Amino acid sequence: MKKKYTLFFTIIFISSILFTSCAKKEEPSVTKENYLLGTIVQLTVYGKNAEKAVNKAMDIISDIDDKMSPSKENSEVSKINKNAGKAFVKVSDDTFTVIKKSLEYSKLSNGAFDITVGPLVNMWAIGTDKARIPSPQEIKTGLNLINYKDVILDENTKSIKLRKPNEAIDLGAIAKGYTADKVKETLIKEGVKTAFINLGGNIVTVGNKLDGSLWNIAIQDPLKIRGEYFGIAKVSHKSVVSSGNYERYFIKNGKRYHHILDTKTGYPSDNGLIATTIISDNSIDGDALSTTTYVLGLDKGMKLVESIKGVEAVFVTKDKKVYTTSGLKDSFKITNEEYIYEKGR
Ligand code: ADP
Ligand code: MG
Repeated sequence: MKKKYTLFFTIIFISSILFTSCAKKEEPSVTKENYLLGTIVQLTVYGKNAEKAVNKAMDIISDIDDKMSPSKENSEVSKINKNAGKAFVKVSDDTFTVIKKSLEYSKLSNGAFDITVGPLVNMWAIGTDKARIPSPQEIKTGLNLINYKDVILDENTKSIKLRKPNEAIDLGAIAKGYTADKVKETLIKEGVKTAFINLGGNIVTVGNKLDGSLWNIAIQDPLKIRGEYFGIAKVSHKSVVSSGNYERYFIKNGKRYHHILDTKTGYPSDNGLIATTIISDNSIDGDALSTTTYVLGLDKGMKLVESIKGVEAVFVTKDKKVYTTSGLKDSFKITNEEYIYEKGR
């Protein structure tokens, strides 16, 4: 779950846009940064209680990391994986909620989103120094172990079991979204009215900018280096989450292998989409849906998001066409003229 450090530059970039457009001298603000959840998290909070609120939020992120990291030996996720085919593992409400939500998105996407992609994620090891192309036999083994229906939930005891040995879950596509929502909730409880939450590109805003205007969220250009954007979304009280083939990848013989896996082929999803962005109220939905729609592809992905109230999307295809949901007309603008705007489908 290691993120490339290049992500750092995007964060600096987004932050600098925000600071130039929103800093108001008289309002105290605190910015803190940490390496958690396999990525760089950065919180900027305004107001008198900012310092205390940021510290509380960081503790919460660290606690969720301890519970959901697939690489920490004592995490709840690791315990579930170690007990695959053997025993139920009692987990926290946090982990239970995220896994339950994951299964909803698996059902909704007919398995395109599937946290039991764990064994394949481990084989590919994308984003780590062990990244490689698994053999066809390994891919076959990994595919045989993907089945969200094998994640058994016991609501009464808040316990979870994987049905078969060697099955493994990976919450990398949804944990950051859940955490971002929890951070927002915590900050609001602490009396914060204005904040910008960035968990490795999962953006959540609290309130409007200090001057009352909307936030401008720059959306990474999937074909350019970090920090270059192709469009801007104007939002208030929203989550903005992107998934893309530029996020974590390696290149072998001129071909790019990225970290979002097609659960039908076992290989990185390759259906014409190169970036998806979801704008929603809750970041857990945004995170799950950015990955889900990336795997589903343009037509099915668009159909899915159009069917969910309050969720908007921006999709980019290989040939630089940009598709948005109908509700986004006024709040998303293409800023790079190389991209062609196509109407929502
Ligand atoms: P990021 O973590 O870079 O923000 P995503 O939210 O799209 O990007 O999540 C990608 C991560 O999700 C992968 O690194 C892997 O851990 C996991 N994953 C990959 N493919 C799938 C899939 N089809 N369904 C669920 N999780 C996936
Ligand atoms: Mg995601």
